[in-house]
Amino acid sequence: MKLEGGCYCREVRYVAEGDAMMKAQCHCRECQYISGGAPNIFVAMPADGFSYTESQPKQFARSDLPRAVTREFCPTCGTHLVTRVPGLPMVVLKVGTLDDPALFGTPKLAIYTIDKQAFHHIPEGMPAFERLPQR
Ligand SMILES: [Zn+2]
Ligand SMILES: [Zn+2]
Repeated sequence: MKLEGGCYCREVRYVAEGDAMMKAQCHCRECQYISGGAPNIFVAMPADGFSYTESQPKQFARSDLPRAVTREFCPTCGTHLVTRVPGLPMVVLKVGTLDDPALFGTPKLAIYTIDKQAFHHIPEGMPAFERLPQR
């Protein structure tokens, strides 16, 4: 699968190639800031197939957390593009930044439901995990 996308102002552009490693919706409190309140819908793609093709994002990681993730976003319009998790060879790509979000299909599982809000929706029959599925 080849996915192309970028930020709202079109300054930062990316391409992601490879097999999707996870398609999910994350209900964690941190994602609620990034998404605006809803679960964050993402596809995890191999890091070695991901690159920025125009401009570079700004990066942010909290210094007060152990193993903090790094969040990458457009320095001009602020659109959040991907998250990188320490030690994992993947990028967590925000589906709303795809040129054609329909290419994503649908999320297959819900994670971090421990932080789920009453206004979040989990489709009937979707596997849901308090944190992450066991590997
Ligand atoms: Zn932008
Ligand atoms: Zn999350």
